[in-house]
Parts: sequence; structure tokens; C-alpha cells
Amino acid sequence: MTTVGDDAANRLARRKRVQFLKKLIIFILVMAILIPTILCIILGVQLHSVRKELKELQAQVKETSVIYSADEVEEETGAEENTDDLVSGVDTSDLDSDLTDDATDELLYDENVRKVYLTFDDGPSSNTEQILDILAEYDVKATFFVVGKEEEKYQALYKRIVDEGHTLGMHSYSHKYDEIYQSVDSYAQDMSKLQEFLYDLTGVECKFARFPGGSSNAVSKVDMRELIDYLDEQEIVYFDWNISSGDASSGYISTDEILTNCMTQLPQYKECIILMHDASNKDTTVEALPMLIEQIQAMEDTIIVPITEDTEPIQHIRNDERMEDN
Ligand SMILES: [Zn+2]
Repeated sequence: MTTVGDDAANRLARRKRVQFLKKLIIFILVMAILIPTILCIILGVQLHSVRKELKELQAQVKETSVIYSADEVEEETGAEENTDDLVSGVDTSDLDSDLTDDATDELLYDENVRKVYLTFDDGPSSNTEQILDILAEYDVKATFFVVGKEEEKYQALYKRIVDEGHTLGMHSYSHKYDEIYQSVDSYAQDMSKLQEFLYDLTGVECKFARFPGGSSNAVSKVDMRELIDYLDEQEIVYFDWNISSGDASSGYISTDEILTNCMTQLPQYKECIILMHDASNKDTTVEALPMLIEQIQAMEDTIIVPITEDTEPIQHIRNDERMEDN
């Protein structure tokens, strides 16, 4: 009986072990399926959020490239390109020139920076090429208030002034005081003749002028205010000067005198428009030019710039009126 009872107990125990092993195998199988599934779901969610972040970053890179290189971005389409392509699409040379322009702009609008405008009247002449060569050597831009000269040898000089980034302004076509200052009509005729002449040669429609002798000249038979009104109607801005190099005098003026005239007056103003002449008999002006540029460039917080639409004009007549008003 005891043996029979033992056998029964053994069978029961074995069945239990088999059942336990069966459960264990099923558990292991379930886990073998469940764990990778859960891992897959977690990884899937993570992948989704990483993709979202990547898209946001791509959008940011694209915005940056719009600022620096609009042309490049026009060619980019869709959001699928990788970031490397977008970054390499940015032309770094454009970036450099943008930064340089920004730096110059900053100086230009900085009230603490002295702006010096080199202006040359009466050209072109046999000295124009030399003046342009010197300006190019120092990478300095100036302003030329020119007259009408029809000789073949001068024609290319108007174009060279424009091509090399200088400002072309109008002085007068004939530069004959007794003709241009006879009436508003004669002045208007002379100036529109010059404007057309310069447009034909350079493609530039000049919007800057300087009166021969300045707006404060005592020669004109017409009230200068009438001529100024005419220029206003034509939307032409006239510029006088606050620093004279002294080279207008008919007699000889030395290089040293020109330099001294300019350099003693320069510290007085934040905006300096220097009057000089581009004429065949003004050799000392050409000789003084390199030293003048070097001495101006050596001054602190000072830049040499050409006249532009943003330049606040120095006007003898208007300035006098303002002083009277005050
Ligand atoms: Zn002149």
C-alpha cells in the first residue's frame, strides 16, 4: 500500500514539474515576443521625435541661408535634403562681402565717425587719369563734379570715373560764368545739356551738382535762390564745401600749402567736404593727394567716402539762411 501511495505521490510531483516547465516555456516565449515589441515601440517613438527635431533644424538652416544667399535657396526645394547640402549651398564669399558692407555701413551711420568727401571740380583733364590711379592705389572713392568736354581723349574718363565706383556730379557744361549765370533759363539749358551728355557716355543720370564758384558766388546776375529752386524741381541736390584745399587760386600753390589748408580744417568738422580741382594746371593737387589721403586715414575714427543720396549736403546759402533763422 505504501509503495502504491509513493508511486501516486511521485506521479503527482512529476506532473506538477511538467506543468511548471510548460508554464515556464510559455512565459519565456511570451517574453521573447513581448520585449522586442516594446523595444520597437520605444525606439519608434524616439525616431519620430528625432525626425521632428531634424526638420526644425533644417528649417532654421534654410532661414539662415535665405539671409545670406537668396539665390541659392531659390534652387532648394522640399524639406528632404540633408543639412550638409543646405550648409554647403551658402556661398561664403557673399557672406564675407556682406559683413564688409555691414562694417562700412556701421561706420557710415556712426555719428562719432568723421566722414571726409574728396571732391574734384572742373574735370576731366590731363590730370584725371593720375588722380584716378592714386585713388585706386589707396582704394578710396571720391566725387567728381565734371564739365562737358567733347574731345575724344576725355570721353573714356567719364566712364572710368563711374566704373571705378566714384560719384559723378555735374558742375556745368560750359563753365562760362557770364553765360550760365545770365538767367535761370541759360543755367537750366547748360545743366540739362550736361546731364544728357553724361547719360549718353556713362548711363548715369546725375542727381548731384556743384555751382561754379559755389552757391555763395558773387558773380551771378541771377539770384542764386532761383537757381537752387530750379535744381530742387529737377530733384538735383547741390553740394558746396566746408574745407577748401586752396587750389582754386590762380597763382601757384605748393603741395605743403594744400596739405596744411586741409589738415588744419579737418578736425573742426564731423562731415568734411574738401574742394579740390581736377585741371591741367593743378599739378600740385595731384602731388598732394597721396599724402593727403595717408594723413586723413591716419586720423582716428575717420573714413573717406564718396557723396551718395544719404550724404547731408553742405550748402553755403542754405546754411547761411539757417544761421539767420536761429
Ligand atoms: Zn569750377
